[in-house]
Amino acid sequence: MLSRSTQSLKAARRALSSSRIAAVVPTLASRPVSRLQVVGCPTPSPIRAFSGSAVRKDQEESTRPEIDTPPSLYTFTEEEEMLRETVRKFANEVVKPRVYAMDEAEQMDPDIIKALFDQGLMGIETSAEHDGSEMSFMAAIIVVEELAKVDPSISVMCDVHNTLVNSTLRLYGNEDVKARFLPRLATNTLGSFCLSEPASGSDAFALQTTAKLDESGDNYILNGSKMWITNSGEAEIFLVFANVDPSKGYKGITCFAVEKEMGVVIAKKEKKLGIKASSTCLLSFDDVKVPKENVVGEVGKGYKIAIDILNEGRIGIAAQMIGLAQGAFDQAVTYAYTRKQFGKAVGDFQGMAFQFAEVLTEIEAARLLTYNAARLKEQGRPFVREAAMAKYYSSVVAQRASGMAIEWAGGVGFTREVGLEKYWRDSKIGAIYEGSSNIQLETIAKLLKKDYV
Ligand SMILES: Cc1cc2nc3c(=O)[nH]c(=O)nc-3n(C[C@H](O)[C@H](O)[C@H](O)COP(=O)(O)OP(=O)(O)OC[C@H]3O[C@@H](n4cnc5c(N)ncnc54)[C@H](O)[C@@H]3O)c2cc1C
Repeated sequence: MLSRSTQSLKAARRALSSSRIAAVVPTLASRPVSRLQVVGCPTPSPIRAFSGSAVRKDQEESTRPEIDTPPSLYTFTEEEEMLRETVRKFANEVVKPRVYAMDEAEQMDPDIIKALFDQGLMGIETSAEHDGSEMSFMAAIIVVEELAKVDPSISVMCDVHNTLVNSTLRLYGNEDVKARFLPRLATNTLGSFCLSEPASGSDAFALQTTAKLDESGDNYILNGSKMWITNSGEAEIFLVFANVDPSKGYKGITCFAVEKEMGVVIAKKEKKLGIKASSTCLLSFDDVKVPKENVVGEVGKGYKIAIDILNEGRIGIAAQMIGLAQGAFDQAVTYAYTRKQFGKAVGDFQGMAFQFAEVLTEIEAARLLTYNAARLKEQGRPFVREAAMAKYYSSVVAQRASGMAIEWAGGVGFTREVGLEKYWRDSKIGAIYEGSSNIQLETIAKLLKKDYV
């Protein structure tokens, strides 16, 4: 069992309304969190200005009148700030010591899964009525980002469970479906989102899994297979997209909540380049009987659910990628300022420092795209183009930052035990799942054309 070194999210939330918050995260309640501290970078030392003043312009007391202006993207609720601090602590104290072993074993540690549930991180947006933490979409993004700084495998497990599985049930399930599945998914049962098949990846709606009503009219019988399904090695609940009437094409696609015990078979566990601790399996469905009460949303509307959920899910993958990029950057740059060659820290050579500056700028840009997409979604404004941009660009930045991090650490970066090569291996998946980079570019291009034609 893991030691409960950090306060559970639910307990921390309760503490928000009372003075107990000070005991949970002592520094948080008493001081505002600066922008750079929020994103996990060291506080910069004062810069000497041309005037000779050692005080930075943005540190001077403002004498200007306050202008009523919208807040920056680095504005978080107190609850979101506290959550970030809590998850950061959890990731460093509980997850970090196990990352290397999980990657080597290509196995998720069951204690970590349990700890995520215990912390309230597996029902982030789920209502309190359904035993969830009832927080914002941005809260989920913060959790995914913070976990990815330490381990992108844990991060994607949490991301898929929250932003795909829970969200589908929360937003499309009827009251009965929500009551039966959401409390379990918030407290102890892992979920999977099963859309892709061997012959349908980017072209997801060419799926061939069928669901036929049996003679009684009470059950659907599922047949087919699903490929590359995240969490499926440990999951007990599977959201499965199957076609109830292939003659109708994509308009026959329907979403079902399927219990493992109904007959879901794990046909193969994939061996992968990265995110090795996250299970990715081939599933087969051979006459799996699913009660018609387990249809999620309307029959024939599964395609719409998949489109909508993946549009917002992409912001989660963008968050995973910016967390990964920042994690690799923090580790490598810290090392570069301790490693001495030619009589000084290698990080102090301009050739290195300019590379740090470029990459941190790119991470910052990717983060702003991601936060903006998340806030637009929360506010009910159009966000599909922005989500695709965030996912696309964050995956580019993650690959670059983690690749550069290896080089900045030299030979040490190339060895397995320090973990920089793991970030790089893990970064490749960002350009593939939940819509490949070409699919994101296609979405952006389609939507931008409307502004010009
Ligand atoms: C580790 C992992 C976890 C995954 N988890 C899940 C999961 O939990 N649930 C789930 O349902 N799926 C999951 N997937 C599947 C994932 O979503 C698909 O792999 C992805 O959508 C790409 O499909 P594909 O692999 O079939 O590639 P393909 O569609 O065959 O694409 C191959 C290449 O062709 C390009 N391409 C395809 N179509 C076009 C086009 N129209 N224009 C330009 N280029 C194009 C692609 O960009 C790509 O470069 C996972 C995959 C992996 C590897």
